[in-house]
Amino acid sequence: MNREKLTPMMQQYLAVKDKNPDAILFFRLGDFYEMFFDDALLASRELEITLTKRDAGLEDKAPMCGVPYHVASGYISKLINKGYKVAICDQVEDPKLAKGIVKREVTQIITPGTFTDTEYLNSDLNNYLLSIFIHGYSLNLTYSDYSTGEIYFTEKTFLSKSELYNFLQDEIDRISPNEILLNEEITSKFKDKIKRDNIFINPYISENLRDIDLFKELGEYFSVNFKNSLKNFIYENNISDYTSLKKILQYLVVTQKINLKHINNIKYYNNFDYLILDESSKRTLEVVRGLNTFTKKGSLLDVLDKCSTSMGSRKLKKWVESPLVDIDKIFERQNLIEAFTKDLLLQDKLEKLLKEVYDIERLVVKISNGSINPREIASLKNTIINSEKIKEILENYDNEYLKYLGKKFIDLTYIYEKIQDILIENPPVVIEDNRIIREGYSEDLDELFKFAIEGKNWLLDFENKERERTGIKKLKIKHNKILGYFIEITKSFLDQVPDDYIRKQTLVGSERFFSLELKNMEGKLLGSKERALSLQSEVYNELKDYIAGEIYKIQILADNLSNLDALLSLAKVSNLNNYVRPKFNEDGFIEIINGRHPIVESYMNDDFFVPNNTYIDTKKHMIHIITGPNMAGKSTYMRQVALITIMAHIGCFVPCDSANISLVDRIFTRIGASDNLSKGQSTFMVEMQEVADIIDNATPKSLLILDEVGRGTSTFDGLAIANAIIEYIAENIKAKTLFATHYHELVHLEDKYDSVENLTIAVDRQDDEIIFLRKIIKGFTNNSYGIDVAKLAGIDETIISRAKEVLNVIEKENEDINVDLNKEYIKKEDNNPEILNFINKLKEINILEISPMEAFNLLNEIINKSKEL
Ligand code: ADP
Ligand code: MG
Repeated sequence: MNREKLTPMMQQYLAVKDKNPDAILFFRLGDFYEMFFDDALLASRELEITLTKRDAGLEDKAPMCGVPYHVASGYISKLINKGYKVAICDQVEDPKLAKGIVKREVTQIITPGTFTDTEYLNSDLNNYLLSIFIHGYSLNLTYSDYSTGEIYFTEKTFLSKSELYNFLQDEIDRISPNEILLNEEITSKFKDKIKRDNIFINPYISENLRDIDLFKELGEYFSVNFKNSLKNFIYENNISDYTSLKKILQYLVVTQKINLKHINNIKYYNNFDYLILDESSKRTLEVVRGLNTFTKKGSLLDVLDKCSTSMGSRKLKKWVESPLVDIDKIFERQNLIEAFTKDLLLQDKLEKLLKEVYDIERLVVKISNGSINPREIASLKNTIINSEKIKEILENYDNEYLKYLGKKFIDLTYIYEKIQDILIENPPVVIEDNRIIREGYSEDLDELFKFAIEGKNWLLDFENKERERTGIKKLKIKHNKILGYFIEITKSFLDQVPDDYIRKQTLVGSERFFSLELKNMEGKLLGSKERALSLQSEVYNELKDYIAGEIYKIQILADNLSNLDALLSLAKVSNLNNYVRPKFNEDGFIEIINGRHPIVESYMNDDFFVPNNTYIDTKKHMIHIITGPNMAGKSTYMRQVALITIMAHIGCFVPCDSANISLVDRIFTRIGASDNLSKGQSTFMVEMQEVADIIDNATPKSLLILDEVGRGTSTFDGLAIANAIIEYIAENIKAKTLFATHYHELVHLEDKYDSVENLTIAVDRQDDEIIFLRKIIKGFTNNSYGIDVAKLAGIDETIISRAKEVLNVIEKENEDINVDLNKEYIKKEDNNPEILNFINKLKEINILEISPMEAFNLLNEIINKSKEL
């Protein structure tokens, strides 16, 4: 393209586009944001808007499409959701004052991880931007929600390659960011491994690869608070490399081009401070997402979330995803939840106040960049009043924990009073020419507005006066933007127009006039209105600045409110679902009396969820091998144990009659491949990789849930692997383990190890029908009841009876093999002593020393013995 031939505006466009090649450029022209060339082709397709053309000075017209500026955010959110970046190019000077082409600049680059429009963000989810820096086998990562100003950092040094990779995977899945920034090292080595659907991945912006001095180069963008907390943070945590942190801050500055005053406090976290749940365990236990829904629905979080505010829901999600391992912190939550569960009236009172609370946590970005509107400030004010009421209720409540919780609420009445003084009671969203400042706040402003109102009365009087003077009853005083004020008279009365009226405009049915008196007043009116509005925005901007200076405290309040909301939600759910407070022990056992599965029971209507007991420890009751027919409830039972354990670590109450839990460090949940195949997620290979991960990482403090592991391959392979895994756990890992299996052959392990116990789920038979009792009992079953289940499922009787015939034949044939397997491979001690002797004899033979005749006889003997088996 010959750029010199382009129109000046197109040259300006391309100059801006050159600087932002990886973003779709929204170029402001009048009331539209226009896109050109490739951006136009792409955007018209993605947004389903009409593609047009515009003369650009070239032979072919430039492809173009556009959206009206006042509805742009909807289109922007669509593009962001599809993983694009959008650069907003605005007019940065008054077009009236411009010489030549109006100056335009990119004022903001919106990316999936920096999008803050609350109208389009999911209010229950944080929108995280994640920055990862890997050097050798160490890494540090930082993630931030730009809409709330939260920012978190962690580092790991000297990991093995697989540890590094696992850690990254788990963190990415846990944080579930909408955008990731990475350094080259990961981009080349790990990119395909950290790739996820819906996550937008950026290498660090190349111009910024050089190291920067945060404080020198970006200092002006940060709040004083943040600068201090950052210095302490680096010092106290002894951090050597924080490149990921620098890069994320730099990225925010480069894209947002505005101060980051709402980023106030950086938190260091360590994944060992939490109960570790890898992605596969979180998925199968449906901790925050249902297996079938892929959304919150059907998850533990869904059961627990009865929050009144979005802030509370987001906080609770963090709690549920990161259960605690610090017993004091767990007790702290338990104590508060217990206090709330005992007083439903109190719950109700607080809940009502919380329902009126605004999402001030997400308001802070608008406070920081100055885009907060008057109605939002009024909402902040109301939130403060409600918080004061909450504080009062808690502080005066007769419970030391609640009192303390109330004390934590900081007093922000001075902000409330300031807003109350300045802003009217129910201000509008847009200011334009609406009055938003309270009468009495500024004398000057009152005077100007009074004049504007008096002017209106003057006009009414003037209209009446002129009607009387001229005798024209239909004479009207009107106003429009082009003519200003004028007198309108319809054609039929034109002969009555007085001499002092001056003609302004002729329309089909009427004429428009002005008089000197009207003109004079118009000047005064417009002038005072203009001054009133500019004075008003001055006052408003001062108020915004004042509030911006209090961001940090507003964030503390948001944190207090979300904490309270999450606690109340857990208390409410405990009351509703009859959960109890679990005890904790240091003896390594988990005891649950009449435990229930929190999610399954929540979906039960008429049916009754059958509760079950659990006792598992690291001694005599360490590994439970659970056999039982299909559909008996094995998976449900095991997951319920895991979920109750997780809930206890969250500090939450649990679904059972009583529970005594010991802290665990990790929970691993593995499901045999074929259980999952239908979802196309799992193969035998993945199943085995996941098992390998357990072998590497499980400790005696872990809880292992193994569900039909080994199923993804042939019977004997699978059986052999399952057997070997259990032995390995019993002998080496020594972790509490629940192992459901259809390999009945495994039940012999109970005899081999003191720590292994067989459990099964009771079934009953009535009139040839199987009945699931759902009760877990000691013992085992060697029947799969597959045909019974098929019958229950409604399969035709002819097929059922034929299947029974076939089964009889197969069982007969296989009986021998089964016996074989037990004798040879498993129960060596029960083997026929004659055969054992023979095998020992074989072992002693030196093949080089025997004669051909001896060899022949030996072979004969082997053949005969094998016929006996
Ligand atoms: P298995 O793993 O033994 O094949 P599941 O655990 O998948 O069986 O359970 C099958 C179904 O039985 C579940 O979907 C649930 O609806 C029901 N179920 C399981 N356990 C219980 C229980 N304790 N009480 C009531 N219904 C149950
Ligand atoms: Mg199952």
